[in-house]
Amino acid sequence: MRNDDSPPPPEAAAAAGPDQRPWFTRRSTLVIAVAALAPTALAGWVLTQVLTGGGPEGRDAKPAAATSPVPVTPVTPASSPATPAKGPLTGRTVVIDPGHNTGNFKHTAEIDRQVDIGTARKECDTTGTTTNSGYMEAEFTFDVSLRLRTVLQAQGAKVVLTHEADRPWGPCIDERARIGNEAKADAVVSVHADGVSAGNRGFHVILPAKVKGGAADTAAIVEPSRQLGERIAGNFARTTGSAPANYLGAGTGLVVRDDLGGLNLSTRPKVFIECGNMRDAKDAAQLTSPEWRQKAAQGIADGIVGFLGG
Ligand code: ZN
Repeated sequence: MRNDDSPPPPEAAAAAGPDQRPWFTRRSTLVIAVAALAPTALAGWVLTQVLTGGGPEGRDAKPAAATSPVPVTPVTPASSPATPAKGPLTGRTVVIDPGHNTGNFKHTAEIDRQVDIGTARKECDTTGTTTNSGYMEAEFTFDVSLRLRTVLQAQGAKVVLTHEADRPWGPCIDERARIGNEAKADAVVSVHADGVSAGNRGFHVILPAKVKGGAADTAAIVEPSRQLGERIAGNFARTTGSAPANYLGAGTGLVVRDDLGGLNLSTRPKVFIECGNMRDAKDAAQLTSPEWRQKAAQGIADGIVGFLGG
């Protein structure tokens, strides 16, 4: 959602270097991890339904069966190649921030805690939105982020995710920003989908405003972030066929904001992308399509490659 600041960073996400273990060892670990996570995700979903009486924002979301443990399934051993591919992004680091966390609904006390974003204090994280049928924004952002990572790694990039089914909630927005900073990322993208009323359609990229206060000082990233955002917007429109949002940004698909901790605290070029409106049936039909999500990931990746001069 655009009202939340979903890009925080946790140490838990810190991506380690290339895994030197034999592939079969990694695979075994993966299988065990997936097996362990699936029941947790399902339990979480059930609990969410009980607590909210519907979807994450109190709507009558009847999560389709397919919406439960989805986030863990796309993980493949290819995500940690022992030998990074060579390509236009070789030597570059990209941090991907999957907005929200599917577990946030069960940890409202933790995510409601206020954190310092330099210019203000704000909730640690938010739950995000859902489609009317209960597909969670956090599921969407994680799926697109995994697809994006695969595409970027094939181009030679070192990719760091701010979280990866490795924590029950969060990270907080300040932590999400810190992960990009500490990774010395050449580009950071926070993936989201909006939750506004039906009829509002399309995507938009959020750029950091020039802010200064406390730990926030975006003067150095405003311009490169705009270049990154323009590249992503153009390529996203091309690969997905989606139009820039019809409800803000004056048709440019670009919006500048000064209230997002994930942007205010970043020292690296960074943007958010709201890929569509989960509350609009036509947009939701796209957002829930794996084929469309692959196009979305490709568009974001193409924008990053263009920005980094690939
Ligand atoms: Zn969001």
